[in-house]
Amino acid sequence: MRKYSEFFFAGDGIVHFDKEYWVESKKDELSALKKFTGKIYCPMCKKAPLCIVNGYKLKYFKVTSLNMHKHDKNCIYRLDEANKEETKLFYSELDLDKDDFQNKLISCMNVMLKQMAGNSSDSEKANISWTQEGENAFVINTLKRGKKYLPHCNLYSIKSIEDFEDDNLYKIYYGKCKIYMTYYKDETTDFVKRYYLKILNDNNLNLICTLSMSDKVYKHLNISFSEEKQNAKSYLLCFSAKMKKMKRKYGYFLECSLEHSKMAIFKEIK
Ligand SMILES: [Zn+2]
Repeated sequence: MRKYSEFFFAGDGIVHFDKEYWVESKKDELSALKKFTGKIYCPMCKKAPLCIVNGYKLKYFKVTSLNMHKHDKNCIYRLDEANKEETKLFYSELDLDKDDFQNKLISCMNVMLKQMAGNSSDSEKANISWTQEGENAFVINTLKRGKKYLPHCNLYSIKSIEDFEDDNLYKIYYGKCKIYMTYYKDETTDFVKRYYLKILNDNNLNLICTLSMSDKVYKHLNISFSEEKQNAKSYLLCFSAKMKKMKRKYGYFLECSLEHSKMAIFKEIK
């Protein structure tokens, strides 16, 4: 069963993160229930109603089996998520020279824009047009079980670092974030060995995760990211990587590595 980390709220026509509901609910449970009950839907198709599971420990949103048929006929959440083996197989067979993986990422951008559409004019600012059905972004064909969707996660709905589960699996991450870049140089040759994109919450500039890459991958991206946090620009971004929880001097951080330039897209929002 899918646990939805985002929901469409008919009250304002915008897709929200589950956290927003739980914050309101903690302040005043009754008023949150009154405000949202019967008005929250699947974040993708906005048609299937979500139900709120408010257990002692488990708190999440789901679509009951009785309501599954209410998803739009093209909604990916009618499908099952690809399991570990299927996901591993998809990425191990992925040929970035031939397969149009970037089209998946562009479709994913479209999903984001569609979700933000009620919110602002970000879609105009980003100048991305609706060329494809965004819903297909995550769909793959598995050998035995037919169509399924690839694991994906909005960067803002990553759980706290303490709760982050390292599953050593590629996942598509996406969001609208501020980014700046740092690098590590070999002192003797003055050669940059590794670039690090610091991906920040667009609103409060908190670090969400670091995306590292080789000199070659960085050059292929062909984007000049700011080198200073205070000048970090806003981007719509989408990439696939294996997120890891790393221990550093000052605590735990989320880091991942971009293995190929075609496994990411960035679109600056001015
Ligand atoms: Zn749906």
